[in-house]
Amino acid sequence: MAARLLNRVRQHLPRVSKLSCRADLKNTPPSCHQLRNIITPLARRLTTVADPSQSYAAASGHQAGRLPATQLSEEEQLMKDMVAKFAKEQIGPLVREMDDRGETDMGIIQAMFDNGLMGTEIPESYGGPGASFFQSNIIVEELAKVDPSIAVCNDIHNTLIVTLFLKYGTEDQKNKYLPMLMADQVGSFCLSEANAGSDAFALETKAVQDGDFYLISGSKMWISSAAFAGVFLVMANADFSAGYKGITTFIVDRDTEGLTVGKKEDKLGLRASPTCEVHFDNVRVHKSQVLGQVGHGYKYAIGMLNEGRIGIASQMVGLAQGALDSTIPYLMERKQFKQALWDFQAVQHQVAHLSTQVEVARVMTYNAARMKDAGQSVIKEASMVKYFSAEVATEVTSRCVELMGGVGFTKDYPVEKFYRDCKAGCIYEGASNIQLNTIAKCLQSELAKGK
Ligand SMILES: Cc1cc2nc3c(=O)[nH]c(=O)nc-3n(C[C@H](O)[C@H](O)[C@H](O)COP(=O)(O)OP(=O)(O)OC[C@H]3O[C@@H](n4cnc5c(N)ncnc54)[C@H](O)[C@@H]3O)c2cc1C
Repeated sequence: MAARLLNRVRQHLPRVSKLSCRADLKNTPPSCHQLRNIITPLARRLTTVADPSQSYAAASGHQAGRLPATQLSEEEQLMKDMVAKFAKEQIGPLVREMDDRGETDMGIIQAMFDNGLMGTEIPESYGGPGASFFQSNIIVEELAKVDPSIAVCNDIHNTLIVTLFLKYGTEDQKNKYLPMLMADQVGSFCLSEANAGSDAFALETKAVQDGDFYLISGSKMWISSAAFAGVFLVMANADFSAGYKGITTFIVDRDTEGLTVGKKEDKLGLRASPTCEVHFDNVRVHKSQVLGQVGHGYKYAIGMLNEGRIGIASQMVGLAQGALDSTIPYLMERKQFKQALWDFQAVQHQVAHLSTQVEVARVMTYNAARMKDAGQSVIKEASMVKYFSAEVATEVTSRCVELMGGVGFTKDYPVEKFYRDCKAGCIYEGASNIQLNTIAKCLQSELAKGK
């Protein structure tokens, strides 16, 4: 079976190699508009095999299961370089201004759509590039190296919203919403409320059935991208007598009567990612707007957050790398005691320690993403990478500020922003203690099963 798969993949390789122009890439990364052209042929090839981990191994000319998690296939490398170029050229110049104003530049969001960075996992059969989950994470990491605010918008859109539609949407829902989610409509995930944070299933937003319709009432808090989102996936309880088993997922369009986006939080970091209240005042939605099954919303939220957490880990890895990338050249340039700061061994040791931490977080995150693509359970791994990467980002950014001295404390360099932005990683999609709870539960269950 494996040999047959390998042969099928090999038949496709020459076409893909021509497209990827690896030799050219070494000197000049291809322009961003080519991204969709790169992802789509790769996806085409992936869909010819049953197991994505097999195709990845085959594409790289290695036996399945023997690859380093961080080794990128040609196409993955090409995509990474192109997203890096996109982030540097199109986002970089606007980062400071967006942070100062606490506003997202909508041109960047549209540019992400235009360059095929939104809806990356949507299959070709729905007009999408059909990229892997791993590739979606590479995109988040590269965006976060430049601006973690833009990265979180991309991450929630791809790993939560699009994935929920792909997994649980009806054909009608997919045909209606997937094209929008690839073209120009951002998705928001509405779970948290004032009294339902870590204890998310204590949510009070209710959905009362009225014939073929549901009336949704309640208020959500902390909703990322809400200021400009076009589609909201809303968790509301349709049967409180069933407890959390009444929680149902509704697709609500932004212009639905009774939906209002409220106060935008004035945050420490991720200031270019609008985090808002969203209010539902008897919002009337047809039963065809239920995503998946009534009463299964809690399952979908738990399942999706596994993927979302790997996405946040990618954001934290990118953010930490971005801080190091700004710090190291400064250390080589800045002289004290008649020598570059970098030439002090104490400084080199600190940077070496921090780089090691980032690499460990990256290896864990890539491995978790590849496990997910291979269809393996990632509950424990998702919590581990989210927890660990957030810790690493906190340590790295804090130390980078110190290593740069006074200028590290100013807005003249990006490290102070990375330092502020990283804090969200310990809070959203499950605070660090919640990740530790999950890891401990998994360990306990493994022990019980005698693993
Ligand atoms: C920038 C940002 C963006 C967000 N975006 C979204 C979004 O798009 N959609 C959405 O639905 N939500 C979003 N959230 C909400 C986020 O998921 C919640 O903030 C998070 O789940 C924590 O809930 P809380 O803030 O109410 O904290 P609490 O639940 O009050 O927790 C406070 C502290 O108590 C600890 N704690 C809580 N319970 C336990 C326990 N059982 N054991 C040990 N310690 C515990 C936590 O670890 C934490 O340190 C966002 C939050 C932020 C900050």
